[in-house]
Amino acid sequence: MDTQKQKALEVHLVTSTDSAEFTLLISALTRTSLVGLDAEWKPVRTQQNSFPTVSLLQIACGDSSVFVLDLLSLPLSSVWEPLRQLLLSPDILKLGYAFKQDLVYLSYTFSSLGGFDKVEPYLDIRSVYHHLQHNKKHVPKQVKSLSAICAEVLGFSLSKELQCSDWSCRPLTEEQITYAAMDAHCLLDIFMIFQAKVAKEGDLILKTTRVSNHNANLGLKELFRNHDMSDKVLRTQFCEALAIVQATTCSNVAQVISSARGMTQKSCLVTVPMDEVLLKVVRKYGDRILLKDSDRKPKTSKKKGKKQSPLNGVRKENHFDKLDEWQGNPPCDPSMGGNGFPKFLCDVMVEGLAKHLRCVGIDAAVPYSKKPEPRALIEQAQKEKRVLLTRDAKLLRHDYLAKNQIYRVKSLLKNEQLLEVIETFQLKISEDRLMSRCTKCNGTFIQKPLTTEEAIEAAKGFQRIPNCLFDKDLEFWQCMDCHQLYWEGTQYHNAVQKFIDICKLSD
Ligand SMILES: [Zn+2]
Repeated sequence: MDTQKQKALEVHLVTSTDSAEFTLLISALTRTSLVGLDAEWKPVRTQQNSFPTVSLLQIACGDSSVFVLDLLSLPLSSVWEPLRQLLLSPDILKLGYAFKQDLVYLSYTFSSLGGFDKVEPYLDIRSVYHHLQHNKKHVPKQVKSLSAICAEVLGFSLSKELQCSDWSCRPLTEEQITYAAMDAHCLLDIFMIFQAKVAKEGDLILKTTRVSNHNANLGLKELFRNHDMSDKVLRTQFCEALAIVQATTCSNVAQVISSARGMTQKSCLVTVPMDEVLLKVVRKYGDRILLKDSDRKPKTSKKKGKKQSPLNGVRKENHFDKLDEWQGNPPCDPSMGGNGFPKFLCDVMVEGLAKHLRCVGIDAAVPYSKKPEPRALIEQAQKEKRVLLTRDAKLLRHDYLAKNQIYRVKSLLKNEQLLEVIETFQLKISEDRLMSRCTKCNGTFIQKPLTTEEAIEAAKGFQRIPNCLFDKDLEFWQCMDCHQLYWEGTQYHNAVQKFIDICKLSD
């Protein structure tokens, strides 16, 4: 069992079907009863009526090997059939985190071959997490990111730094490959804890509770701070649970000897039936993902025709078409502002967007006055080296405005506006940037968090801190400009989750 425990993660990058890695993959699939699935893609604008193409598909197998399939170089026609069989095989439980979205894009990527419409049996790691939480008191039912679940259940956090990296760029960096592999592999680790618990049902107090409690009082910032790569493969804390499971699940692995090389030629994936324990889990908790036809097609914006009447619609829009596109300097030009991110000035029509940008850690100011003249607005932007964000087409007519000083936001809704700006300016939003700025005044926070005592002192006569927070050992952050105090309570976590979802950081 010792050797099992210490087995290092083997990551195989699969770039062609006549490679040793591909043979290994097929061979692994004939032996495994459990896979963790994840996919990466380069985000595209949702308004473009198309889905992103999946660039990487990660398949983590039960034996500590992860296959990272490079779908940009693999011939899709040779991969489609084995993948389809994997997704449908009753012998292999598929684990994922909100994998439906991945499946939609994956299906779209393989649409010329018929795509995919079903994953069964499937188990979402979010349900696994809720089950693990079930016996604990005082746990608000909330949606957590995979990274947060990992931190809580496994005691290490996944780095989200590379989440927004360009997955369509080749060659991939070592870090990208490791990151991608870990995202899929951690699903297996979380499941192992869950399965050990299920196997011991009736005797529900598991050692994992100790692991979780260990991190329960840490704020997210704290957890995301230690995302050193080497941390990720350290999985010592739950080895005991893992060992229990492995002792039962790995027993029949040896039964199967199949010629993997032959397999790749055949169209049928020969799999091994699940063992009893896993079968029970699947029967009790197993789920499936079914894609309807409507899920598989990008939404065409039906509203367009209605909204844009010929009088004030299309023609006028076309007039500004060229100006609508961002034509300025590369947004990370240091002359545009500090820390590699551009700074923005949001006019009154996109005030909500300013708050949203601050929530994801971007410097977004609002005009000095409530009803600024266009001239004043542009002057403020120039003075503070900010890109002016507006929905006011009239502003674009000012000839003295350099093209790299204004961007016309096209989306109407705050969340979509945020995504639009992130994509247009290629802002690399990572989870640790979330809530790193004062949403009230755009200020930055003090360098170190305050303890409860310090926070009470700082809030005196200025802001009320609810008594119920005092015994929670929370971290408090204070805005250096307006002195507003923030703490990492439920509201904070909900907000973080909201922006994880909006920015799609969790997929
Ligand atoms: Zn402030």
